[in-house]
Amino acid sequence: MTTNNTLPLSGIQTMPPHAPPRFHLLAKPSGSTCNLDCTYCFFLSKEALYPNSKSRMADQTLENYIRQTLEAHRTPEVTIAWQGGEPTLMGVEFFRRSIEFAERYKRPGQTIEYTFQTNGVLLDDEWCAFFKEHNFLIGISVDGPEEIHDTYRLNKGGQGTFKQVMRGLDFLKKHEVDFNILCTVNAANQHHGRRVYRFFRDELGATWMQFIPIVERATAELLPLANLGWHERPGGDRPLYLQAGDLVTERSVGGEQYGRFLVDIFEEWVRHDVGRIFVQLFDVTLHAYFGQHLLCIHAPTCGYGPALEHNGDLYTCDHFVEPNFLLGNINEIHMLELVGSAEMRRFGDNKRDLLTRQCRDCEVRMLCNGGCPKDRFVLSRDGEPGHNCLCEGLYHFFNHTRPAMAVMADLVQRGQYADGVMTWVAEQDKRRGRNDPCPCGSGRKFKSCHGQPGS
Ligand code: SF4
Ligand code: SF4
Repeated sequence: MTTNNTLPLSGIQTMPPHAPPRFHLLAKPSGSTCNLDCTYCFFLSKEALYPNSKSRMADQTLENYIRQTLEAHRTPEVTIAWQGGEPTLMGVEFFRRSIEFAERYKRPGQTIEYTFQTNGVLLDDEWCAFFKEHNFLIGISVDGPEEIHDTYRLNKGGQGTFKQVMRGLDFLKKHEVDFNILCTVNAANQHHGRRVYRFFRDELGATWMQFIPIVERATAELLPLANLGWHERPGGDRPLYLQAGDLVTERSVGGEQYGRFLVDIFEEWVRHDVGRIFVQLFDVTLHAYFGQHLLCIHAPTCGYGPALEHNGDLYTCDHFVEPNFLLGNINEIHMLELVGSAEMRRFGDNKRDLLTRQCRDCEVRMLCNGGCPKDRFVLSRDGEPGHNCLCEGLYHFFNHTRPAMAVMADLVQRGQYADGVMTWVAEQDKRRGRNDPCPCGSGRKFKSCHGQPGS
């Protein structure tokens, strides 16, 4: 049965038991191979899962991927999402063919949104003209101003990549391609939230950004090697990243620091930028006040974001590209059977079912939902295993932002714009002494922190 905004299935004989109407598959056409060697990128080590493979998606797999994606969706909107490794390594022609397949298999009433995550260094006129022509939304990875970005985002020669990335960004701007900034939060930028945010807003002209915490998990045996990075080294000794261990590398963001980083940005945003700058987590949090979950990480359950390897292997999630989480291969089994399988549903429901007691009793649980399972490997306050290593920061962020989020939610509920919250904050600031402690919790005076004129 279909409703007004659902489409019938096509190309599939029987409906799998847990088939979602829509899902967000991340396709990795060049597998985990990349032209850079970012020190924290444990995805690089996943090349070891496919030894002797060239890690390039064949046309038959590409066609199956596009056809099955379009067949499997019962919503009119379909996202075709590319990421890596580094997808530009495939060359523009590969993506031209993907568009041809999409045009061939698109069903009446379907609209396709193309997204593409890149490190930006290979972008040029040809790429950006192509992106513009097909209305791609590009995510470009930048970690902050040059010296911060260049701490970990290195090329194969160990050199910083900032200047090349800025060159790529200039091509995107020249061709007026929509872009958003993907910034990892790591040990090098964790104390510089506002500075990083301002750099994106004021220097790069970004209006959409997302911040992703770096959590590189390791066992005690693996940690010394993991601290050196996940890239290939002469003489072997390359560790394979697995979801194992309860330690993290020295590049990982601390739980507390992650929360402070987010709050530092939030306090700037809520004074100046609501309605004109979109920060993914802030948007996600506001929607959670209405029971809507835009991001798997803070949704009660997950399991709608599988990852497709170059050879057609489909995994439960890009963070679980490892043998135990392989669902099957789309060249042998239709993608919807894999996405709608009991195995995938169990993976997604475990997110809710394996919450620690601390999470179940937490007052911000409806906003946080325990975070991503990949980060759940420490003991809770009660000594229960499987708690989120970022909990302290997540709690701080969701708790700290509650009053302002509640004001925004109230405005939206009354049919008004959320940016009215800036007036509410300004009134509060008027009552605040310039020498009072800044509400961000930095310990500095308000006048020399978020109360700085012109900030
Ligand atoms: S494991 Fe984490 S990233 Fe993967 S789908 Fe679940 S919440 Fe999302
Ligand atoms: S803030 Fe911590 S305790 Fe609360 S739901 Fe999130 S991870 Fe669990």
